[in-house]
Amino acid sequence: MARVRVDKDTCIACGVCWALAPDVFELDPATGKTRIREPYVKSDGEKESIGEIPDDLVEAVKNAASSCPTGSIVVE
Ligand code: SF4
Repeated sequence: MARVRVDKDTCIACGVCWALAPDVFELDPATGKTRIREPYVKSDGEKESIGEIPDDLVEAVKNAASSCPTGSIVVE
């Protein structure tokens, strides 16, 4: 289990994380930025989206975080 956070202020909606970890990240139509999908999302607002992901998705999420051009994804 890991905690993941997306900073919507810095996300440029490039779509890289949607492609690399489609089970976890998706477009938030309300903000035009990335949000964390159900059932992993714990908190989702205008500025950030926070979730908890199971171990089998951590590698994909870390890959998305390191590929995000703006460093908007943090895995803890
Ligand atoms: S990879 Fe980063 S900038 Fe691109 S959509 Fe995902 S969070 Fe936003």
